[in-house]
Amino acid sequence: MNEEKGLIFDIQGYSVHDGPGCRTLVFLKGCPLDCAWCSNPEGKQFKQEIMYRATKCTHLTQGCERCISACPEGAIRKNPSENGDKEANPLILDRSKCQSCRDFDCAAVCYFEALKICGRWYTVSELMRILKRDQQYWGGQGGVTFSGGEPLMQRRFMRAVLEACRDAYIHTAVETSAYIESGAFLELMKFVDWAFIDIKHMDPEKHKIGTGVSNELILSNIALLARSGWSGRLIIRMPVIPGFNDDDENILKTAEFLRQVGLVEMNILPFHRLGDSKWSQLGEIYPYRDYEGTPEEKLAHLQKLLLDQRIACYVGSETPF
Ligand code: SF4
Ligand code: SF4
Repeated sequence: MNEEKGLIFDIQGYSVHDGPGCRTLVFLKGCPLDCAWCSNPEGKQFKQEIMYRATKCTHLTQGCERCISACPEGAIRKNPSENGDKEANPLILDRSKCQSCRDFDCAAVCYFEALKICGRWYTVSELMRILKRDQQYWGGQGGVTFSGGEPLMQRRFMRAVLEACRDAYIHTAVETSAYIESGAFLELMKFVDWAFIDIKHMDPEKHKIGTGVSNELILSNIALLARSGWSGRLIIRMPVIPGFNDDDENILKTAEFLRQVGLVEMNILPFHRLGDSKWSQLGEIYPYRDYEGTPEEKLAHLQKLLLDQRIACYVGSETPF
C-alpha cells in the first residue's frame, strides 16, 4: 500500500452532521486561508505545534515544573503575575523558541496533558486501518469526511487515501475551501462522493480582508466542478459571520452565483465561539471573542431570502441528510 504520510490533528467518530449517515471525521493540518473567525485554529499551520491547556496545569496547585526543566530551549517560564491576576495562565510559553522544536520534550513530561502536541503523521495504511475499523459502525449510509484545515492541501496523501477508500467501498466527503489549483482540484474530486464547499463572501476584496485570499479561484473551482458532470453531491456552505457576510446583498449575490452554475442547495452555519479556548491554547487571542452567536431571527431571515431565490437552504445541522 502507498505509504504517503499526512499530518492530521484529530479523528472523531460518530458524527451525524458532516455528510450522510454516521461518519468518521478526519481533520488535516494546514490551510491556505487565514479566517479571523476560525473555529479550528489548530488546523491552520501545516506543522506540529504545542497546545497549552492552562486549566489542566498543576503548576500552581502541586508545584509541578517538569516542563520548565525539560524544555531544551528555555521556552517556558513561570508567570510572575500568577498570584495577582486570577485569569493569567500559570506558565508563559515563548513560542518563538518553539519554531524548530522536533522532540516536544515538554509534552512528553506533562503527565496531566496540559501540554499536548497538536498534529500527528499517519501513513495511508494507518489511517485506513482506523477507517475500516469504524466502517462497521457507520451503517448503510455513512462514511468518512475529510475536514481541516484544508484537507485538499495535502494532495498526494489525500489522493492515496481517497483511492484506498474507493477500493474499500468507503463513502467519502470533503469539507473544503476549494482554494487549490484547478487541475489538481478536479483530479482529486474524481475520487470524492460528496463535497461541502464554503463561500465566505462574494466580493473578492472583502473575501481577502476576511480570509487573506481572494475568492476568484474558489468561485471558479465551484463553477468548474458544478459544470464538469461530477457525479457527487455538492452543497455550498456559508459560515454566517456577524458584520462580515450576513447582509442581504451578499446573500442575494451568492444565490445568483449558485443559480448561474446550476446549484440549488446551501447550508448556512451560525457563528459560534467554540474555537475561543483553542485560540488561547495556541497562545493567541480569538479576534471574535466578543461577538455573539448568530440569532435565530437572523438565520430565519437569511433562509427566507435564499428560499425566495429558489435555493434549498438548510440552517446549521437541520439538513435532510
Ligand atoms: S508539566 Fe504540565 S502540569 Fe506540569 S507545569 Fe508543565 S504544563 Fe503544568
Ligand atoms: S515545544 Fe519544544 S521548545 Fe517549545 S516549550 Fe516544548 S520543548 Fe520547549
